[in-house]
Amino acid sequence: MAKVLILGEIRQGELRNVSFEAIAAAKQIADGDEVVGLLLGEKAVSLAKQMIYYGADRVLVSEHSDLKSYTSDAYTQVIMQVIEAEKPEGVVFGHTSMGKDLSPRITAKLKSGLVSDAVSLEVNGEEVVFTRPIYSGKAFEKKVIKDGLIFATIRPNNIPSLEKDESRTGDVASVNVDIKDLRTIIKDVVRKTTSGVDLSEAKIIVSGGRGVKSAEGFKVLQELADALGGAVGSSRGACDAGYSDYSLQIGQTGKVVTPDLYIACGISGAIQHIAGMSNSKVIVAINKDPEANIFSIADYGIVGDLFEVVPLLAEEFKSVTV
Ligand code: FAD
Repeated sequence: MAKVLILGEIRQGELRNVSFEAIAAAKQIADGDEVVGLLLGEKAVSLAKQMIYYGADRVLVSEHSDLKSYTSDAYTQVIMQVIEAEKPEGVVFGHTSMGKDLSPRITAKLKSGLVSDAVSLEVNGEEVVFTRPIYSGKAFEKKVIKDGLIFATIRPNNIPSLEKDESRTGDVASVNVDIKDLRTIIKDVVRKTTSGVDLSEAKIIVSGGRGVKSAEGFKVLQELADALGGAVGSSRGACDAGYSDYSLQIGQTGKVVTPDLYIACGISGAIQHIAGMSNSKVIVAINKDPEANIFSIADYGIVGDLFEVVPLLAEEFKSVTV
């Protein structure tokens, strides 16, 4: 049994799903011990209850003005202070941009190990066994933590969150934070993407490559994504060509995604792209080249011109989606 701290993440005024998934992972590690949530930034107080509903026993919050926008400096200082005060035996973050930035900083300060990008875990007696992808998703390894601090980041969309239970109760308390010597001050946040669906947590992704041929071509993909309630992603080929924004890039040097459905349109299937999407549950590839490598990992392949196939799919899904 171990007391576990989890970091919740707020984006655009809402809790990201990975916060609930981290609670589910923490519950397994805690094995009956306390799961403490930490929520920092604007709206932390009003969102804290959600974490209790999804399984946290207690939530610590701070809406300090220096935490309004994420900075490595401020968040690291506060999390270190909370860890020192709470002395958890386990810590779980999402394997998100924030979690990937914070976890090595904090584990280095704590001189602890880190299991990053875990996709599942099991507890065998005193040992916690994490499974994580290696070699760009081609294989999985197991990491066993036998003693010391159990610190892990979990990949979004892999560990199912618990059922929401609005009858659960728990303490929500403000933490006193001491933030100093900030090297970064965020003046304003300018969002480039307008879609409401967060790519790394999307259940359905319609992704485009160089075969989409223009930024205008991506509108066709957006229509299909809208019909399915999904998000649009892209290959680096499409980003490099200026058709799509780098914030949408999926792959080794972009985002790693694991949606239920990934529709690759005009993407050849380079190893660096596959590294970011091969663990999607169902992969559909649309490519006019029957020899394209993307077909080797696709569950369903459509050989054809995406500008013919994608609008047909969008029409069809619009007619069945209520
Ligand atoms: P292409 O390889 O040019 O493929 C375009 C495809 O579109 C072709 O298969 C073609 O048959 C098809 N097509 C063309 N017209 C149509 C049509 N009308 N209808 C249907 N199909 C059509 N790439 C990533 O994606 N993500 C990464 O994170 C990433 N990181 C990298 C890191 C490094 C260090 C390096 C060296 C490379 C990285 N790359 C990454 C680049 C990668 O190697 C490929 O160059 C890139 O993925 C190719 O993008 P693409 O499939 O869109 O383009």
